Formats: sequence, C-alpha cells, structure tokens
Amino acid sequence: MTEIPNSIARRGVMMALAAPSGGGKSSIIRELLKTQPEIYLSVSATTRAPRPGEVDGKDYHFVTQEKFREMLDAGAFLEHAEVFGNFYGTPRQMVEEHLAQGHDVFFDIDWQGARQIAEKTGGELVRVFILPPSGDELEKRLKGRGQDSDEVIAGRMAKAASEIRHWDEFDYVVVNDVFEQAVAEICGILATERLRRIRRSGMAGFVKDLMDGCARYAQAKPAS
Ligand code: 5GP
Repeated sequence: MTEIPNSIARRGVMMALAAPSGGGKSSIIRELLKTQPEIYLSVSATTRAPRPGEVDGKDYHFVTQEKFREMLDAGAFLEHAEVFGNFYGTPRQMVEEHLAQGHDVFFDIDWQGARQIAEKTGGELVRVFILPPSGDELEKRLKGRGQDSDEVIAGRMAKAASEIRHWDEFDYVVVNDVFEQAVAEICGILATERLRRIRRSGMAGFVKDLMDGCARYAQAKPAS
C-alpha cells in the first residue's frame, strides 16, 4: 500500500507483535520494515552471547552482566526479563525519542514482555497477536524449517499451544494464512492507530487555524 504522508504532527504508535514460533512473525516484520519507512524496530539489550550471524546493535545490543545491571539501576529499561539464565531488556531512551519524532516503534516480543510494556506505558501499547491458520499448518511450518526430530517438533507444538493461550490479552488478532493479507491487516491496524486523536499532537493547532479561518470569513461577511 502506498503511503500518503500526513502533515499533521503526531506521536508514534507503540506496537507489540507476538506470535507462537512458526506464526510467521519474523517474515511479517521484515516486510513491514521494507514498506513502512516510519517504523523503528526496538532492539533489546541482552547478556547472552551473540549467535553466529547475529550483529551487535541490529539483532541485540550485546552487553555484559555488569553493564546490564548498571542500565537496570539507572532505569534505562522499559521492561526486562530473565530467560534461561540470560537477561533481556527493552531500552527506554530510543523508544521515547522515536515516539516523540512521530516514528512508530515496534516490539518483537512475547506475551509476557507485551504485558509488562502495556503496564508501564499506561495503555499506549497496541498489542497484536499473530496466529497460524491451523495446527496442521503450524506443524508443517515447524517441520519445514530443518531436520528437527519428532520430539523436538512436539515440544515446539506444546510451547506454541501455551503461548496461544494468551491470545485474549491482545487488542488485535491476525491470522497469518495468506502472508500478504496478514501484512495488509497489520498495516491497516497501524494506519488506524496513527489517526487516534490522542496521538495527534498537531491536531489542536490545526483545528485552531481552521476555526480562525471560519471566524475571519464570518467577520468579513456577517450573516444577514
Ligand atoms: P533469544 O535468546 O532466543 O533471542 O530469545 C530468548 C527469549 O527472550 C525469547 O522468548 C525472546 O522473546 C525473549 N526476549 C528477547 N528480547 C527480550 C526483551 O527485551 N524483553 C523480554 N521480556 N524478553 C525478550
């Protein structure tokens, strides 16, 4: 969808995208970043070691335990969690700077992270859950990824079920059956959320100018 820029200043949309593994979230995010220039994807800090191919500052900000603790004590995280002995946190400053500039900030996060950010941002977060179209399709997608054993796939399916259980904590639910449609639906949600009055910081000035224009006309040509 071609985007027509809106000249009235606005605060950015914070959007959390969550999905069970195999839901297609990474591909959707990649497509959104390609087509929507105003989106910034939040990059978390982590104490875990980079995996082969991961780039510091792009996939994560890789930091030491000491640095993480320092950031935590300084209130630098919007939320944080410990997962399998490693710490993860969402840096606050970049998020706030982008929102103030009218950029939309996306969080690639699980339901627990989404819940924490929602609690800390007073209802500002738009939560979107992406679902696969069926259990059979999810199994096919997980199997299609590599050479994993049936036990590993069964474990992932069980984990997917436990994540899907949280679907009703989200504002929007998108079923990723046809990829292009799922992307279009998320773009639709974003377009709508951008128009919410509460985010339109430039609207009061726009309306004032509009009313001044009406008043000027009314004064110049008083109604008879
Ligand atoms: P991985 O180490 O495989 O990249 O991520 C492990 C887990 O940490 C995933 O479930 C991922 O969603 C979660 N995670 C990554 N970044 C953050 C973050 O900033 N905050 C929270 N709460 N979880 C995160």
